[in-house]
Amino acid sequence: MMADRTSGINCRSCAGLEDRRFFALYGSSSAIRVPVHIRMDKERKLIVAGNWKSNKTNSEAVALVSDLIRELAAVKEVDVVVCPAFTALSDVSKLVLGSNIRLGAQNLSDSGYGAFTGEIAPGMLRELSVRYVILGHSERRQFQKEPDALVAKKAANAHANNLIPIVCVGETLAEREAGITEKVVEEQVRGSLAGLTAEQVESTVLAYEPVWAIGTGKTATSAQAQEVHAFIRQVLTSLHGEAVARRVRIQYGGSVKGSNARELLQQPDIDGALVGGASLESKGFVEIIKNAI
Ligand code: PEP
Repeated sequence: MMADRTSGINCRSCAGLEDRRFFALYGSSSAIRVPVHIRMDKERKLIVAGNWKSNKTNSEAVALVSDLIRELAAVKEVDVVVCPAFTALSDVSKLVLGSNIRLGAQNLSDSGYGAFTGEIAPGMLRELSVRYVILGHSERRQFQKEPDALVAKKAANAHANNLIPIVCVGETLAEREAGITEKVVEEQVRGSLAGLTAEQVESTVLAYEPVWAIGTGKTATSAQAQEVHAFIRQVLTSLHGEAVARRVRIQYGGSVKGSNARELLQQPDIDGALVGGASLESKGFVEIIKNAI
């Protein structure tokens, strides 16, 4: 746990990436006063991302993001990200410019420009001010047969181009029932982050999404989710040490909604949410974010 530098109260508003920048600029003297102050018991800033999947035409996406910009204008305590389909990125990008909402994409090529029909190169996303890319989502692992090694190549490509990967991992119902959740998740974490430097891992966002909870209305209990999040942090510790593991933000995903968000996000190792269905209308997504604060 990291104490607030002035009062001993932990602070969500200046944690995470912001924190690193702060210390780089001003050092870590406890005498320095910083403006904040939301009580919290975590050192990482929450990140809530809406994965719109293959939903919303361009005009529907523009309408949704316009509502979100208005409704969430005052939110500073949470990094809010929307991930529309590629066809809506350009117009949504113009709208979120200057707002507190960040833009994410739902996939990225493992290559650059060139003869890769249907692929999206990092430069195309950078030009639209995209900051995040969702990689290794269970739907892509399942339907496009994306293996960990490909996810790792894409994650390296993202980092090489100043995009932050949101790397998804999670077990199926059969794997949970067979008692191999930790084995599966560990393999996915190690495989999907293979080859990344400690610094790259530190700024990667992980999303633990039990496949049986995605789009099913079944949510992992906060205890079940916390258990796996803590385990993932252990795996990160064994890969790159405790200091790095403590910095990595791990989202939970799987039927998150306004009514369960608070309890999930209060867990010590849950640092946000990756939201599918409930991010498709502003009321549900706004409720999640307001409950997170
Ligand atoms: C997802 O697909 O990333 C997801 C978490 O979906 P839902 O919230 O609909 O379960």
